[in-house]
Amino acid sequence: MYKVNEIFETIQGEGNYTGTPAIFVRLQGCPVGCSWCDTKHTWEIPADLSIDLWQATQKKADSEHWADATADDLLALFSARGYRAQHVVITGGEPCMYDLNPLCELLHHHGMSTQIETSGTFEILAPEQTWVTVSPKVNMRGGYAVLRSTLQRANEIKHPVAMEKHVDELKALLQDIDVSGKLIYLQPISQKAKATQLAIEFCKANNWRLSVQVHKYLGIN
Ligand code: SF4
Repeated sequence: MYKVNEIFETIQGEGNYTGTPAIFVRLQGCPVGCSWCDTKHTWEIPADLSIDLWQATQKKADSEHWADATADDLLALFSARGYRAQHVVITGGEPCMYDLNPLCELLHHHGMSTQIETSGTFEILAPEQTWVTVSPKVNMRGGYAVLRSTLQRANEIKHPVAMEKHVDELKALLQDIDVSGKLIYLQPISQKAKATQLAIEFCKANNWRLSVQVHKYLGIN
């Protein structure tokens, strides 16, 4: 069973798949503890806040309510909701707290592509075809380390940046990783002008890419 906070169809606004219509499945639960997290409502899994899966597609505001779902339940729901997107982004929370193989394999079998957005602090259990976005969370309150295996598995590494020390963190993480074939992004935290300028400068200096969370500029989910 996956514990699902919300499901919605939108346009992917970050990284390599920017601009791609996508179904987002936000899973419940995350112990990583980033102070600037914008999905703190996914951290806990309150036993008394379970809801029907259909309700998870109709949330009008962030809430800690969650629904149990199997991979088959989710596929059936996409169809029932009339979603047209063929790309599914599994996010959280920390989605890699779950074994994502059953869900990704089922979706691939039905011709869909999958993407995981993870902090890199849990082993990634997903098929090889799944696009893995690691957004490394370093020295957060939960005390979880970014795993070398997740950086090696990543198709793209998208690092949140607000100050120069975050760039240093990324360089330290990448030191022993073979980055050939991987896309490296800096993503300014919270669209702050200073963070954006910093990210632009370091992208140019290192030949990395800039990810600007297009959906936030557009005011969509
Ligand atoms: S890993 Fe993601 S969901 Fe978890 S606390 Fe950090 S930003 Fe929030």
